Amino acid sequence: MAEKRDYYEVLGVEKSASIDEIKKAYRKLAIKYHPDRNPGDKSAEEKFREATEAYEVLSDAKKRPLYDQYGFAGVDGADAGAGGAQYSHAFHDFSDLFGGMGGGFGDIFDNLFGSGSGGFGGSSSSRNAGGAAEGASLRYDLDISFHDAVFGTKAEIRFKHNEVCDSCHGTGGASGSSRKTCPTCQGTGQIRRSAGFFAVQQTCPTCHGTGTVIDKPCASCHGTGVQEKSKMMTLTIPAGVDNGKRIAIPHQGDAGTNGGPAGDLIVVIHVEEDQFFERESQDLYCAVPISMAQAALGCDITVPSLDGKQISLKIPAGTSNGKLLRIKNEGVPFTGSSRRGDLYVKIVVQIPTRLNSQEKELLEQYLRLENATTTPQLIPLSSLNR
Ligand SMILES: [Zn+2]
Ligand SMILES: [Zn+2]
Repeated sequence: MAEKRDYYEVLGVEKSASIDEIKKAYRKLAIKYHPDRNPGDKSAEEKFREATEAYEVLSDAKKRPLYDQYGFAGVDGADAGAGGAQYSHAFHDFSDLFGGMGGGFGDIFDNLFGSGSGGFGGSSSSRNAGGAAEGASLRYDLDISFHDAVFGTKAEIRFKHNEVCDSCHGTGGASGSSRKTCPTCQGTGQIRRSAGFFAVQQTCPTCHGTGTVIDKPCASCHGTGVQEKSKMMTLTIPAGVDNGKRIAIPHQGDAGTNGGPAGDLIVVIHVEEDQFFERESQDLYCAVPISMAQAALGCDITVPSLDGKQISLKIPAGTSNGKLLRIKNEGVPFTGSSRRGDLYVKIVVQIPTRLNSQEKELLEQYLRLENATTTPQLIPLSSLNR
């Protein structure tokens, strides 16, 4: 492939161009180089594709700054998808771009590119290759306990997806059936429809672009070539996953049609809350009560960790209520590493509510010694451990 031209250069606008200027520039190029106006002209097709890619990035409030800062490397993700998927954003805007032109221009672009099966580019070639289409990706929501999210687990999941039909091996035809020319499109796979100043090519809805139909459809799958099946898998959930994490399992979504690849299964992790522990990134938080005298004099306590260990913790003399003490390396493991975050223990100093006579007498004695003021000054809130 030839070296890519700068997106601003492609659209012929300044780096400081407003979104309106970018739209206007793209609209001009799209009308000039649109494949329907230049049938069979490869260089026009390439110019149209180049302009569309530039527009897709520069019209996107998130991608444009990335492109400005890092160049193509900053927006490479936009190109990673197969087929024409990267153009989807631009095509949503077509009616907006061309809506004001009359002649149904907006409709034409909607019809040409509005279908979910990919935009200009990849889709036409895959249709010509026999209507092969990638299967849908599926989502599976998995609830796991707080403990399992921190330490990892194996989870059995059961889900339904489409698999290639056993009876017809995906052809959609019963045994002894044959494919005949599609009566709707006479085998071209495309139908033409006139709209505004163009005749528009559309994929034939009867044969989905393959140009042929089956005379005797397979009874098991009614000619679709796929069957819904239930499937069980054991998933390994790595230690340290966080709420909302997505794990993609390749090719476990729906089977593709006409030899297309299967989609992916996307497992979305939902982590349940724990009664005693909270998580912030790789650190864990818990709270333990100590007595007033323990806080004043200092002591050694043991704290139960999330994995059931008893960890000794030194409470220094003069520890205030709410103080956070850190136990290193007892937090959440970093995924794929032996390193862990820390465990923070929040100290809750408990004031006795029922004193026996001896305790009361000692405390009164202490109070007299302490000689506490009855007119305290305010202290700044920022000085508190909160
Ligand atoms: Zn079948
Ligand atoms: Zn057809």
